[in-house]
Amino acid sequence: LGKVETFQFQAEVTRLMDILIHSLYSNRDVFLRELISNANDAIDKIRFQALTDSSALVAGEDLHIKIKVDLSSRTITVEDSGVGMTKQDMINNLGTIAKSGTSAFLEQISKDLESGGGADTANLIGQFGVGFYSAFLVADKITVVSKNNNDPKQWRWSSKTNSGFTIKEDDSEPLGRGTKVILEVKEDAAEYLDIGLLEELIKRYSEFIVFPIYVYKEVPEVPEPEEPEEEEEGAVIDTGTGDESTNGEVDAETPEDEDVTDEEGAEQDDEEIISEEEDPTRKEGEEAPPKYDWSLVNDVKPLWTRDPSEISEEEYTSFFKSIAKTDEEPLTYIHFKAEGDVEFRGLLYIPKKPIRSLTHVEEKTRKDLVRLYVRRVLVTDTVEDGLLPAWLSMIVGIVDSDDLPINVSRETLQQSKSLTAIKKKLLRKALEAIKIMMDKEPYEPEKDDPRKPGSQFLDFWKVYGATLKMGLVQDVANRDRLAKIVRFKSSKTALRDPNDVITLEDYMLRAKEGQDYIYVHSGESLDAVKNSPFTEQLVDLGYEVIYLVDPVDEFLLQYYQEFQGTKLMAVAKDNFRLGSEDDEVIRTKAKRGRQSIKSLLTFMKETLGSDKVSSVRASMKLTRSACALSSEQFGYTARMETVMRAQAL
Ligand code: ADP
Ligand code: MG
Repeated sequence: LGKVETFQFQAEVTRLMDILIHSLYSNRDVFLRELISNANDAIDKIRFQALTDSSALVAGEDLHIKIKVDLSSRTITVEDSGVGMTKQDMINNLGTIAKSGTSAFLEQISKDLESGGGADTANLIGQFGVGFYSAFLVADKITVVSKNNNDPKQWRWSSKTNSGFTIKEDDSEPLGRGTKVILEVKEDAAEYLDIGLLEELIKRYSEFIVFPIYVYKEVPEVPEPEEPEEEEEGAVIDTGTGDESTNGEVDAETPEDEDVTDEEGAEQDDEEIISEEEDPTRKEGEEAPPKYDWSLVNDVKPLWTRDPSEISEEEYTSFFKSIAKTDEEPLTYIHFKAEGDVEFRGLLYIPKKPIRSLTHVEEKTRKDLVRLYVRRVLVTDTVEDGLLPAWLSMIVGIVDSDDLPINVSRETLQQSKSLTAIKKKLLRKALEAIKIMMDKEPYEPEKDDPRKPGSQFLDFWKVYGATLKMGLVQDVANRDRLAKIVRFKSSKTALRDPNDVITLEDYMLRAKEGQDYIYVHSGESLDAVKNSPFTEQLVDLGYEVIYLVDPVDEFLLQYYQEFQGTKLMAVAKDNFRLGSEDDEVIRTKAKRGRQSIKSLLTFMKETLGSDKVSSVRASMKLTRSACALSSEQFGYTARMETVMRAQAL
């Protein structure tokens, strides 16, 4: 005992701390959310261990987060009864950043800071999770006392900003199991020494933590009951000091534990009243000293287990903000209970803007943002390969199942049949949420107007359209489902409004009699395709041409060739065909024309030579334009060649 070891922070940690202190100064509140989120994770971990090792938790054990302010020592203490840390854990977790991509993240954020991009920096940090080190925003010195259940010793980690840290065995009061983070509050952060403010912050940021969070504060004196047999417990709470504190106290004494504690071997919530300050013997007539006690701040019943009819929009919104760690409201959500092969509850949100980048979604390593719970115990916050397909990886949410084996490990989970069933249902529900946004107006053929989705769907499409189109390219299994959602610009929609879009289904509904193909034309912009010689005849004859003007459309054309049995036809390719009737008419005309320009064609072919053109032919496609460059049937379109050249493929 007593041997103090000194360590240096990993370079990245020092950099992260510098960045945090410079960019988050005006948003120092986040430190509390981060410490509570770590306490929450630690309790999740011990509960998870208890699933396979019943000795990890004692039945009925109290699992909680407690926050206390001490004015004389100017400290804030955040304590949890979570998994705790061994000495090695402390070295690994509180001295380095293990996350992959940290360096790249720091790189980007440093650049952002240099160019003065304040708002972006805050966003980036928000996505990354600022973590433990954010405590240095408000503290000069941090001490972490921790006891892991597999380690007989209790350890004390200590650090003053940037100066590295020390670890020694701790001989203070034993924790049993868990962690205590003690912040020595900076001179200029004294406002945080107010438990009322901390309570407000907990309510704002950590409302949906499913473990009880207590603050140690002054509670109104409960008068001695006049009658010896007081019947109703609540009746005495009538001191007129306002709802908040009185409710807090009542809750603290009767924590809502029915729903969180129903699994065997993992009983945890507070059965006992936690009361450190027994009412001291007080003399008659003396002024009552303020009574301090632990007071419950949050409602520990998980939102997703509640009946949707009893949840307000505000609750759904703030739950989203809390799990997605964002200030934005969600675009839409779907809350459901699945029954049948596998029972589970799900709550899925589509954010207005992606919570993290969608461009790096590679099938193999992808993780989605849907957390998986088994009977209210968090099993993992990111399922490898995703619970949802890559093109739905913008979805944030929660799945809670009673049917997965209780001793499920992250590895066996992947092979579980129930998980396969859950994935299938989740996909269906996610699509349902999209469909609800989509089905605002029915298609009316007589108006020759495709159905117009609500503005909510258009907002969705603007942000996620390209991701869904990539899905159409990559996810062969879900192609048919996706094909009903994806939208395109066309020769008809462009006439009305350049932002208007239609589905392929609507395209088919208003196709011309005898039309055997879906005509598509790709180009760099709406103007370029609108004025293209290839589309002029089609448009004149009353055909609708889909305009492929999104960068992803070109790939789509390579891999997606037909919709519900109707082939897509690129009008710039030389195997192009019109609908059967029109084809007859045009063919007869073209035959006559072809004879008259035969020698011109030969002349052009010879002059340009075979390295420039593979053939020069009379075309049936052109009406106003004299000539056009077209691609071979199996060759790349001109635009694809441009794209490939740009990427040096
Ligand atoms: P993150 O939570 O994203 O992993 P943090 O910087 O917040 O990053 O925390 C770093 C690590 O320190 C955690 O992953 C965890 O292993 C450990 N840790 C932090 N706080 C606690 C705690 N209260 N109990 C147990 N471990 C903790
Ligand atoms: Mg954390």
